[in-house]
Amino acid sequence: MSSHLPPPSGTPQDPFASKPAKPVALFRQIVMLGPSTLADTLHSGRHSRDFTLARNDYLRSSVLVTGILFLLLTPLWLLVDYWLLPRAALTHVVPGRLFLMAGLAAAVLLACRSRGHYWQARVAAGLLIGVPAAFYALTLLSVPPGQMHLLLGYRFIPFLLMALLAIFPLTLTESLVAAMALVLLESLAQQHEGIWLTLEGWQGLWLLLALMAISLTANYFHLGLLLRLYRQATHDSLTGLLNRRALRQMIQTLRRRHPDQSAGLLMIDIDHFKHINDTHGHAFGDRVLRHLGTLLRNVVPSNGLAARYGGEEFVVVLPQTSSTALATIAETIRRRVAALHLLDYDGEAAQLTVSVGAAPWRANESFDSALQRADAHLYEAKRGGRNLVALAS
Ligand code: GH3
Ligand code: MG
Ligand code: MG
Repeated sequence: MSSHLPPPSGTPQDPFASKPAKPVALFRQIVMLGPSTLADTLHSGRHSRDFTLARNDYLRSSVLVTGILFLLLTPLWLLVDYWLLPRAALTHVVPGRLFLMAGLAAAVLLACRSRGHYWQARVAAGLLIGVPAAFYALTLLSVPPGQMHLLLGYRFIPFLLMALLAIFPLTLTESLVAAMALVLLESLAQQHEGIWLTLEGWQGLWLLLALMAISLTANYFHLGLLLRLYRQATHDSLTGLLNRRALRQMIQTLRRRHPDQSAGLLMIDIDHFKHINDTHGHAFGDRVLRHLGTLLRNVVPSNGLAARYGGEEFVVVLPQTSSTALATIAETIRRRVAALHLLDYDGEAAQLTVSVGAAPWRANESFDSALQRADAHLYEAKRGGRNLVALAS
């Protein structure tokens, strides 16, 4: 049975494929707009575990810097309060500021401890927005409506927090939830102040919504750029598979989290690839590599890792996989590659096969040692005549 594979999506352009019109391509480059980027910046559902950790670490740094800055400014602001506010108002504001400092300190501490954790940095960012918002609400409620003018210097807080959303690499959904809470806070403040639905009130809301639009746009570009840089740093640009460095990093994470878990390793090498390049051209060779990338993405289960390890060598890691299952997957890959029906740019058919070396990766064994055994089996498969799977008996 033979199958035709469509050119893999998300991988670089086939040099022979038609290119999008210039203005469209330019627009895409500038806006990075596309269903994929939009979906990835909208919510974190499609983010890989590894990207989530990378985003959390980045978020952690922004929360730490902003949190420490706020923490330093809050007691300084007390001096301003002391200077500007009448004594009666101070009795409301001072305990509020102490609460604010305690909340900010909690956010900074949580951010400090959040390296390598999925949620803590996001909770810390939530505290950094939520605690000043709560401080503002409590201060408003504790001051009689007739004396609201005393707190004029506090009216910027919802606006400041809305602008703060732009600093963090949040998804649009996360930002939108926080932004809606801030709009609600501003509405409550306006009702308390008696300017709700007045011209002055509408002006305030309009400014807040404009800041919200700016923050969400910043989030879109911020997260989109982060995703793009992350992909470029961790994925091979030709096949879209993990690159060697990212594979090794993910394996370290895997081993740290599950030290007792065994896995299966496959080392895959294209047979006579130099000959394919020489006969059909280097550009066709690149296309073959892209097809193999797509095939591996389709065959490897979601808990597995597939990487381009070298020129025409690929490594697959399959956690919690028995020797029998490992052999089945290796054989599936070998068979599907042999069944590919590939035509070069002159319409000439090219026969593609791979050799596969398989080895179990035992718990407490180093990755390099297991990979060496898989490599030794790959060598056996090559010596046995290629288009073969070899694994430890
Ligand atoms: P064997 O069956 O023993 O593996 O033979 P082989 O020809 O596949 O192995 P060899 O190591 O002699 O050749 C590998 C070739 O892969 C040589 C190199 O030009 C080619 N290659 C490496 N990276 C790329 C790439 O990104 N694109 C293309 N088109 N070719 C590549
Ligand atoms: Mg080869
Ligand atoms: Mg090779």
